[in-house]
Amino acid sequence: MSTAPTRERRSRPEARCPLRPDEVCNLCQVDVTGPQDCGLVYLVMSDPDQRVEWGERRRAAR
Ligand code: SF4
Repeated sequence: MSTAPTRERRSRPEARCPLRPDEVCNLCQVDVTGPQDCGLVYLVMSDPDQRVEWGERRRAAR
C-alpha cells in the first residue's frame, strides 16, 4: 500500500486594499479582480497630491 503524501490545497493569500490597509480587498469597484487592476487604487497612487495625503493618513493611523 502506497503512503504517498497527499497534496494540501493551497489557498490564495487575501489581498489587502492599499487604500484601507487594515482591510482585505472586497472588490468594491466594478470589474476588478483585486488591487492589481483597481482603478481607484491607480488613481490615488498616480496622483502625487493624493498619494501624499494617503501617506499622511497611514502614518496618522499607526
Ligand atoms: S476594489 Fe480597490 S478600492 Fe475596493 S477594496 Fe479592492 S483595492 Fe480597495
